Amino acid sequence: MKIQLSSLHTKLKHSFGYDTFRPFQEEIIAAILGKRDVLAILPTGSGKSLCYQLPILETPGKMAIVISPLIALMQDQVQVLTSMGISAAFINSQLSYYELKNIQKNLQNYALIYVAPERLCKEEFLDLIKPLNIAYFVIDEAHCISQWGHAFRPEYRQLAILKHHFPQVPIATFTATATPLVQQDIIDQLHLQTPYKAIGSFDRSNLTIRIDQRDNGKDQLKRFLESHRNQSGIIYTTTRKSVDKLYEELKKNGYPITKYHAGLTDSERQKAQGTFLNDTTPIMVATVAFGMGVHKPDVRFVVHMDLPKSFEGYYQEIGRAGRDGLPSDCLMLYSTRDYILQKSMYADIPDDITKHSMLRRLEQFFSFCAASECRRKQILHYFSEPYLHDNCQNCDNCLDDIITEDITIIAQKILSCVYRMQQRFGIQRVVDVLAGSQTQEIIQNRFDKLSTYGLLSDLPRLDIRHYIFSLINQNFLAMTEGQYPILQLTVNARSVLKKTTPVFVRKRVIKVHKERKKSEKSHSNTVNRNMLAKLKEVRKQLASKAGLPPYMIFHDKHLVHMAELQPKNEAEFYQVQGVGEQKHKLYSKAFLECIASCLS
Ligand code: ADP
Ligand code: ZN
Repeated sequence: MKIQLSSLHTKLKHSFGYDTFRPFQEEIIAAILGKRDVLAILPTGSGKSLCYQLPILETPGKMAIVISPLIALMQDQVQVLTSMGISAAFINSQLSYYELKNIQKNLQNYALIYVAPERLCKEEFLDLIKPLNIAYFVIDEAHCISQWGHAFRPEYRQLAILKHHFPQVPIATFTATATPLVQQDIIDQLHLQTPYKAIGSFDRSNLTIRIDQRDNGKDQLKRFLESHRNQSGIIYTTTRKSVDKLYEELKKNGYPITKYHAGLTDSERQKAQGTFLNDTTPIMVATVAFGMGVHKPDVRFVVHMDLPKSFEGYYQEIGRAGRDGLPSDCLMLYSTRDYILQKSMYADIPDDITKHSMLRRLEQFFSFCAASECRRKQILHYFSEPYLHDNCQNCDNCLDDIITEDITIIAQKILSCVYRMQQRFGIQRVVDVLAGSQTQEIIQNRFDKLSTYGLLSDLPRLDIRHYIFSLINQNFLAMTEGQYPILQLTVNARSVLKKTTPVFVRKRVIKVHKERKKSEKSHSNTVNRNMLAKLKEVRKQLASKAGLPPYMIFHDKHLVHMAELQPKNEAEFYQVQGVGEQKHKLYSKAFLECIASCLS
């Protein structure tokens, strides 16, 4: 089948209001229309939804079924699609009996139907959809199918039956996180046939990452909030109690804030989420129970008030900022106390494998916090993605003043210690030996007789640990997977030991908070701020009239584009990003009037 690319571009502008495709979108759409299975691993905010929403407009008379695990997300997407003039519905437990029957009776009239996996796999539902003209299935959050992923959902396993019942219908799978193991598992479980693979970078270059020691946390937070006035953001803290306390304190200080944790009733939680989404209370203070399935595009900051438990959790949580691609700030405040406390809580976990795996993730993450290499590089390294730059210009370690320390001699001591211990021990033991600890185990194993014993006894243990992690990050050492990870030398280690390769670490010395990338700054400087504020007012009025969150009328970045372009007539208004036919029809008048009055 030959795909009419120009027709895809027309639909992109007509329905979604965009002029160009993002990376991979066009290829994925072409694959789906070519009846090919798809495996797409693309980061948050890269525009995955459009990849499966647009093709259905190219296949009139047919429909697509989207399997999604989260009720909130289904509702959000159906609202967005409806606001663009695309017929969509969701089927889940939130519907009344009458609504359900009504939708089920008219299934063939919808372009997109959203449904949870457990319902889809029921025989009754399969019978209902079999006679329909289904163009393709979509599986969102596809990593949930794999036991190796971080969010396994057993009900996803049942989706294996799809290819059995619908052998001719392509399946397009999407997720933001999947290691190679999980990717293969998705393919195997769903019996995907030589799928088109779109594997994008994990990098979120619009997020500014900053990690600081917590000193007086509340003051640090308030300073941060002062520089983020009138913006929407999420503040994470670990316990329900700390959420309640922080909420009270910030509320007293006049911040437009709401809160969310598992101790609140369903309706309290729903209300909090609602007022956060529609910007009545644009700041959310919450435990990590909040955020899954919340696709608010204009979250401008995410703050962690304590140490997250792993890279996975941290990256997922900060990933909720800046989905619209605009610059957004992520601040984490941590202290060594968090680490010790968390470690002691793990002691009670009965299952050894789980305990060790959690401990290992925590340790790796803690060491990342104190490290001085580029944050982005370290995060991507953790997720097995090479980052080819040394300076991202958008994290504290790259923005602040840094000195480079030559640690060649320390590195040689560490590497040779690992070698002398026959590459059979984990970090803890290696640190013990280098620090010259006199534990029973050291004596029993005769480690105190090694030539490397006590070689770094003049350094604090924490520093030795950080140097080791730095060597891992720089690929001189590797840490094995499994219950008891051990340290091993990589091929690169040899040249360090032979004294031919020097090793450096970067140390952050002066914490001046420099501004982020120039290009991003200048982008926002060209905007007429006064006009932007007025446009936001108009958006708010339209949103409350339509009973929609403001971002469903237009995203911030679309208003920014509007304020840059300053359209004077209907044709010019259509040039604004995010303006498709439906939105043009509904909103052009109000915004054009606003722009005209600003310019007069
Ligand atoms: P994901 O599901 O990958 O996290 P979304 O589908 O929510 O990302 O899209 C993120 C944002 O990008 C949305 O605001 C969406 O409207 C916007 N977007 C998607 N495709 C394009 C495009 N081709 N041009 C501009 N913006 C786009
Ligand atoms: Zn950096």
